[in-house]
Amino acid sequence: MLITRKVFTDLAIWMTSLGLMMGVMFPFFVVWMGIPAQLVMTPWFFATCMTAGLLVGAANIMLAKTVVGRRLRLLVGRMLYVKSNLIDISIHGDMEKCTPEKCFIKVDSEDEMGESASAFNQLVETLVESLKSASAVRTFNEMLTSQLELHALTEKALDQLLRHTNAIAGAILVEKGGELRLCASYGIHAPDKIAESELAKRALNTKERQFLAVPGDVIVEGALTDFRPKEIMLDPIVYKNASMGVVALASATGFTNEDRNRLDLFRQGLALAIHNALIHASLQKLAAVDPLTNVFNRRFGLVRLHEEYGRSVRTHQPLGVMMGDIDHFKKINDIYGHLVGDRILMMVAKTARSALREGDIVIRYGGEEFLFILPAASRNDVLNIAERFRHMVEDSVVREGMQDIRVTISIGGTSYPEFDVQDEIDLIKNADQALYMAKDSGRNRTVMA
Ligand code: GH3
Ligand code: MG
Ligand code: MG
Repeated sequence: MLITRKVFTDLAIWMTSLGLMMGVMFPFFVVWMGIPAQLVMTPWFFATCMTAGLLVGAANIMLAKTVVGRRLRLLVGRMLYVKSNLIDISIHGDMEKCTPEKCFIKVDSEDEMGESASAFNQLVETLVESLKSASAVRTFNEMLTSQLELHALTEKALDQLLRHTNAIAGAILVEKGGELRLCASYGIHAPDKIAESELAKRALNTKERQFLAVPGDVIVEGALTDFRPKEIMLDPIVYKNASMGVVALASATGFTNEDRNRLDLFRQGLALAIHNALIHASLQKLAAVDPLTNVFNRRFGLVRLHEEYGRSVRTHQPLGVMMGDIDHFKKINDIYGHLVGDRILMMVAKTARSALREGDIVIRYGGEEFLFILPAASRNDVLNIAERFRHMVEDSVVREGMQDIRVTISIGGTSYPEFDVQDEIDLIKNADQALYMAKDSGRNRTVMA
């Protein structure tokens, strides 16, 4: 029963009242014990008994304040110490610093005080877990917003997922053109195989998290990881109700509820970031690639030429450039129409990509003019590559109805530093002049500057 808002005041009221009551009742008790009433029933004896009762009450209050109050103040002091540590640690976001000495109270009594301390510890434990989750989500989201490139993004996301869950191996696969493609993996022997697994397909189709518990006596097919996983999880990456890929995680000890909750917090941000990265990639491609021929457009090609020329000057490596122009293309358009002309442009670009080496750059420079950047190619290399490409074009056929259409191409080539230039634009001018000479001297040939 609460009398005031202070427990020791309540206790004082109870103790003094009880002391007074005892003082009043004591003379009657003494009479009942057989002591003559005329000796006891006097104001003086009543006053003495009541004073004694009050004194016992006061002594009890003092004792309670010293014994219980001191222990309570100690408990409060420890709680305040934990509170200030928790604030400090959560500001810096490093919840790992939450050691038992800093964040928990020592339970050193087997009574209500001990119960209070352990209840407080349980509360702190829950709080620390949720602070850990909040801090993990914060770092995860910060990382997601700082990355736009799909591979870098998925690598970092996987790193965070492994750091904040029980998983010690994993992979992220993203769907492209109806197929799951591996973007990042850690600790998995053949991560590409995940794309073909039934579990991954089920996760992708049902948009629901799939688990595979691996019994101790079962060896996972294909030795998935260096360790024997106890549980494998496949989490679909879903954005606006569409599956975009899967996250595969393997744990040696199994996933806890905490892991699952944390993954729930991560998955939406991850899906949005992957969606943005895919859009970014397609926008970049759109800005850099010619939609008809699928080779780089002039604007992007000139930026690449500038970079390659700079690198060539720095590293003293040669840089080959050649310009190709389809012969009498206007006639092709006039005779067969623009759609056939387009197909020929596509064929020439495709042939160029297969004739050139990896690292060479094909650019649609104008209507039916292609510019080629050939890093490390000397004048002689350029001539060889140009001739190989020219012959391949000459031998290619575009079929239209019953007709086989063939075209030829004229090429002008040059190479830095055998042909010294002031800048990369000079290289284009040289190649262009050589091309003009190739046209002038009969077409379907290569002329070197
Ligand atoms: P030359 O041998 O001197 O190069 O003769 P040419 O007819 O190829 O030269 P010209 O530069 O006069 O003609 C280029 C033609 O390319 C004109 C234009 O209609 C055509 N062309 C440019 N872009 C496209 C395109 O995207 N599709 C199609 N089908 N034709 C294009
Ligand atoms: Mg032409
Ligand atoms: Mg032309």
